[in-house]
Amino acid sequence: MIVGERKSLAEIKDMVRPYGKILVAGCDTCTAECLAGGRKQVAELAAALDMAFRLEGKEMEVQETSVDRQCIHEFLLDVIDQAENVEAIVSIACGAGVQSLAERLPGKPIFPGINTTFIGETASMGVWQERCRGCGDCLLGSTAGLCPVTRCAKALLNGPCGGSQNGLCEVSATLKCDVPCVWAMIYDRLQEMGELDRLTDYCPPKDWRPGGAMGPRQMVRGDN
Ligand code: SF4
Ligand code: SF4
Repeated sequence: MIVGERKSLAEIKDMVRPYGKILVAGCDTCTAECLAGGRKQVAELAAALDMAFRLEGKEMEVQETSVDRQCIHEFLLDVIDQAENVEAIVSIACGAGVQSLAERLPGKPIFPGINTTFIGETASMGVWQERCRGCGDCLLGSTAGLCPVTRCAKALLNGPCGGSQNGLCEVSATLKCDVPCVWAMIYDRLQEMGELDRLTDYCPPKDWRPGGAMGPRQMVRGDN
């Protein structure tokens, strides 16, 4: 899922201050899962903005809405209708959701209420960890299902480096917490699979063109 974190109330307030009637729009899929942009967070942000502007003595009407997915046009129709009655929108969907709305609402100011951070998984309650950078040429098949592009601090395709100690990445000392060395994890998994000899397979330099180095990517399926 896409993981994001809500911007500070002060930053959001500054973005919408010029307006008098705004809509806070949430997304009940990815950003709801990471407790940043679902309908509960819409209600919290709307209440916080309402209170903050009241305390400043500024008139601000804050409306709320939320849809299943802001990144799919068909789900946006209600938001588009509601947007006609407001001066600006704060979207707490991921960056794709915000842009989806922006492209369908000409002339309507729209602001991001969260910082979209990464593609990740829910590691435990309240903890999300990055797992994929959408490189467009997945190599998990040769790395025991663990991604060094994302999870190695140096994005090494042939690891580990000399900084790997006792299963931990060398950045652990700087970050003052235990960061697993993904190449140690890959080693362990290959050993468990009885395929440790694959560690000697050389991985050539990666072609980053499918990863976006050639500009914005698009995928078209020919069977629809
Ligand atoms: S190799 Fe690429 S596509 Fe596969 S998990 Fe890593 S970043 Fe994502
Ligand atoms: S210690 Fe491991 S995870 Fe850290 S940079 Fe070196 S190979 Fe990558």
